[in-house]
Amino acid sequence: PLRESDPVVENQITVCVRKRPLNEKEINRRELDVISVPTKNQLIVHEPKQKVDLTKYLENQHFRFDYVFDESCSNDLVYKFTARPLVKTIFEGGMATCFAYGQTGSGKTHTMGGEFRGKQQNFKNGIYGLVAQDVFRYLTHPKYARMNYSVSASFFEIYGKLVFDLLAKKQRLRVLEDGKQQVQVVGLTEKVVNKVEHVFDLIQKGSLERTSGQTSANSNSSRSHAVFQIILRRSGSRQIEGKFSLIDLAGNERGADNNKSNRQTRIEGADINKSLLALKECIRALGRKGAHLPFRGSKLTQVLRDSFIGEKSRTCMIALVSPGNYSVDHSLNTLRYADRVK
Ligand code: ADP
Ligand code: MG
Repeated sequence: PLRESDPVVENQITVCVRKRPLNEKEINRRELDVISVPTKNQLIVHEPKQKVDLTKYLENQHFRFDYVFDESCSNDLVYKFTARPLVKTIFEGGMATCFAYGQTGSGKTHTMGGEFRGKQQNFKNGIYGLVAQDVFRYLTHPKYARMNYSVSASFFEIYGKLVFDLLAKKQRLRVLEDGKQQVQVVGLTEKVVNKVEHVFDLIQKGSLERTSGQTSANSNSSRSHAVFQIILRRSGSRQIEGKFSLIDLAGNERGADNNKSNRQTRIEGADINKSLLALKECIRALGRKGAHLPFRGSKLTQVLRDSFIGEKSRTCMIALVSPGNYSVDHSLNTLRYADRVK
């Protein structure tokens, strides 16, 4: 497995997979762990031995990614190989983007927002918080200290075609595109932050806003994309120097399932599916000169448009998988999607 001392690869697009441990519910149901991680960039989905249609999985399926994190890996280690190498990008005039992709319950929010202890979430040790800490560390570096940067943060949610401000009680926002194809989320709260504790507060506030009023596993947060951004400007200037976007995507099972009885859920599923497909195409376009950028294909890709253009832009996709045999269909979907992103 991957170790702290392993080399970090500097790619424009990095695609990796994280496998979480079996949880209590899965253990109680006697689910089998059907995913193994033989090396730091390989993953195998094994033939399930029970309770699944065996005709569909006659052979083990092998996948290869830039990195594969097994269940022993911490958020810190995942961060080191995924988002951390992208922090310097925003200090060099580029855009950095990091996505968490996977089915509901696979560990997207745990990875991005921080680990849970019971109902408490440690907002400092998720990728949002770790990026914030490194941004403030960079600012103390003599090379950057004299640049007079100002840092701000925003946090919003995309649900279908609607955008909600997570730092302003889910106020609904409009997205506008001007003649120069500049996309703007009108009225989005952008808080200037002077120290990392301010960012932790915003992460906590937005995360709680996102999950408030939810009662079941069918919660709204699994049907929306959450976008947390750290923005770098020169003091006194409106011009953005660099931006780090961190996205906790909607559960991909919501897009995959077409047999929904309820009309509203069907529409939601179609929207999520569309946005995840557009996202894949936009990331692929990043790695190919002159490729068509279908950013208008969804609200998500539209608001992230400026992150998909420019040679200095870099992106990282973290695909999350649940190891249990009941999840094998969703895990295979996730792995196939991640496999095609690059
Ligand atoms: P998602 O956001 O993808 O729906 P969550 O991040 O909420 O999933 O994770 C679901 C549950 O699994 C949470 O209770 C979380 O603490 C736990 N979990 C996720 N990933 C891990 C991990 N790597 N190690 C331990 N627990 C995890
Ligand atoms: Mg979540």
